[in-house]
Amino acid sequence: AGYAMYEASKNPVLLEGAKTIAGEKGTIKPDGVSRQLVGKIVSRFEERGYKLVAIKSLTPSPALAKEHYSDLASRPFYAGLVKYITSGTPVVAMVWEGKDVIRQGRRIVGATNPLESDPGSVRGQYAVSVGRNLIHASDSFDAATKEIGLWFDSAELAEYEPTAWGWVMA
Ligand code: ADP
Repeated sequence: AGYAMYEASKNPVLLEGAKTIAGEKGTIKPDGVSRQLVGKIVSRFEERGYKLVAIKSLTPSPALAKEHYSDLASRPFYAGLVKYITSGTPVVAMVWEGKDVIRQGRRIVGATNPLESDPGSVRGQYAVSVGRNLIHASDSFDAATKEIGLWFDSAELAEYEPTAWGWVMA
């Protein structure tokens, strides 16, 4: 699946009492799990200084996959996309929090089509096909909010402060 985020410039919505920082939902897709790239992908966000709010491995139901990608329902690749995400090889759903995390998360992930992804991005480094592009990342505050609600219960979202938070997120 993907991720969702909160942003400092906008009102916090996801965690009660959370700092005014955006949260993003990211999902490592089945190819990322099958290719054993989970640790490398998670590290990109951790090392950048983002806070891991939630993470879990699951095989999404067709209903969840369809709702997650409901904006794309009219596209010709929609059925194949849902089949890919629900293949039975699990996905790793995550929530990351921190300054500019939605926009930065999209940069970390790279452009949708690996042919156009920055070579330093996850897709640019590891993917070659748009239909097997390893990871989803929320592309807006509203999408993040929707996706976090879809994939996680509020009780699964951790509230804590990483030790370096004050230096990284200043
Ligand atoms: P992103 O995942 O970068 O936000 P989109 O929301 O446009 O991109 O598309 C969602 C996902 O649908 C893509 O990540 C990719 O897995 C799949 N997809 C998009 N375009 C195509 C395509 N032309 N052919 C096959 N799959 C596609």
